[in-house]
Amino acid sequence: MRDNEMVTLAEQRVTVRGHYDVVVCGGGPAGIGAAVAAGRGGARTLLVESQCHVGGMATSVPLSRFCDSHGGPVFDEMVHRLMQMGAAEYVQNPRRYRPPGRIAYRAESVKAVALKMIAEAGVDVLLGTTAESAWLADEAVAGVLVANKGGRSLMKSRVVVDATADADIAASGGARFLKGDPEDGRLQHVAFRLAISNVDAERYEREKPSDEEIIELLRAAQEDGLLHPPAGVFRLEPEIFPFDRRSGRLALGGWEIQGVDPTDPVAVSKTLVECQLAALELVQLCRAHLPGYEDCEIGAFPAALGTRESRRVVGQYLLTGEDVVGASKFDDAVAKAWFWIDLHDPSPGKSTPYSLEYVQAHRPPEGDWYEIPYRCLVPEELRGLLVAGRCVSCDRRAQGSLRIMPTCMFIGTAAGTAAAMAVAQGVLPHELDGTEVGAAILGA
Ligand SMILES: Cc1cc2nc3c(=O)[nH]c(=O)nc-3n(C[C@H](O)[C@H](O)[C@H](O)COP(=O)(O)OP(=O)(O)OC[C@H]3O[C@@H](n4cnc5c(N)ncnc54)[C@H](O)[C@@H]3O)c2cc1C
Repeated sequence: MRDNEMVTLAEQRVTVRGHYDVVVCGGGPAGIGAAVAAGRGGARTLLVESQCHVGGMATSVPLSRFCDSHGGPVFDEMVHRLMQMGAAEYVQNPRRYRPPGRIAYRAESVKAVALKMIAEAGVDVLLGTTAESAWLADEAVAGVLVANKGGRSLMKSRVVVDATADADIAASGGARFLKGDPEDGRLQHVAFRLAISNVDAERYEREKPSDEEIIELLRAAQEDGLLHPPAGVFRLEPEIFPFDRRSGRLALGGWEIQGVDPTDPVAVSKTLVECQLAALELVQLCRAHLPGYEDCEIGAFPAALGTRESRRVVGQYLLTGEDVVGASKFDDAVAKAWFWIDLHDPSPGKSTPYSLEYVQAHRPPEGDWYEIPYRCLVPEELRGLLVAGRCVSCDRRAQGSLRIMPTCMFIGTAAGTAAAMAVAQGVLPHELDGTEVGAAILGA
């Protein structure tokens, strides 16, 4: 593919397919929070999601636990509904998790329950639709160009909430953003979670080879050209692929891959292709060599590559790692969080420092929390748009903490609440009083 060849398109007429108060782009945890809050705030709202379901990483990777932190009112209600139907429960680990613990959930139920809450809030939903770019009028974002099977069209709106995780819409509108480690640009690993089914786990437990035998099996398979790991696959110590020393089994839960930028579609596609081809080889290898895996098969592939980090929009305040560890409070706080700084990005050859000591030293003190100010949702110059989720204004270390799903939904809820307030007051989001937004969410 050549990047430098350009053509000029003839001026294009685009159909205006909707007039909304608020368009929320992206239906992950942040987008769910934003859509529900904006709808409940009385704004005529549209949610645009590129997948065929909502949930973002929660349901696409899919993941299974909400980390232990505040999630805000929409999150609390969603969890309550999930628990009532037996699709979620608390998981305790007093040494590592803070009360009330993490929440294990069933991903398919999250898709449906979140969608029901969105529908009940009166929000229109457009699944299978990519939000392409911001549409600007009078120097402010006034809508979003979307693309789907119907072609390209415009959704006009008074406020846009960018909850795409990668800040696609803010970046297209010219918002300044940061990406990666300030020193070497590295990004957190992406993840490919595959399930291998039809395994006789009891037989494997009884007859399993030693760690060394499995490592040798995988090494030899690579040497003989029978197994091609995806480029950049991250190897825990010792050098292994894809073997999980903790579970003592082939790491069928997931491969961690470094050096992939989630905003580079070619790199993302290449990784997805490599992972799916490697899975095919892995199944053949398991069938031939591992007891209990004789009839194993590919059980499920993820709906998306798991992504943790990409653009961070520069807003009116940049939350820092020091704010996280020092439990900073703000007059215009709109969300609270206490998760530790969890960066999956060790330099090659080193393992992630997940010791209890590391966790304790990289989060607010016991019983305390840090706050996220409204200004982190407001781009420094771009008007008419709020950012929500893991792409808000922060440094890399703060992003390592606030990127967890409950916090992203809390931030999204704040963005949706603010968007509805801006519409009701007839102002743009940057003109709102952040303390009023905070009071509406956190209480006066
Ligand atoms: C492997 C992995 C493990 C993790 N483990 C945990 C965990 O155990 N617990 C936890 O709490 N957190 C965990 N996280 C972190 C968490 O899942 C994410 O950081 C969080 O989901 C981010 O929320 P978000 O709403 O900002 O973005 P996302 O969840 O990424 O959602 C963004 C949504 O926007 C959609 N979208 C993107 N671009 C467009 C576009 N242009 N147009 C339309 N739609 C678009 C996407 O399809 C997606 O649905 C994990 C993350 C990964 C990758």
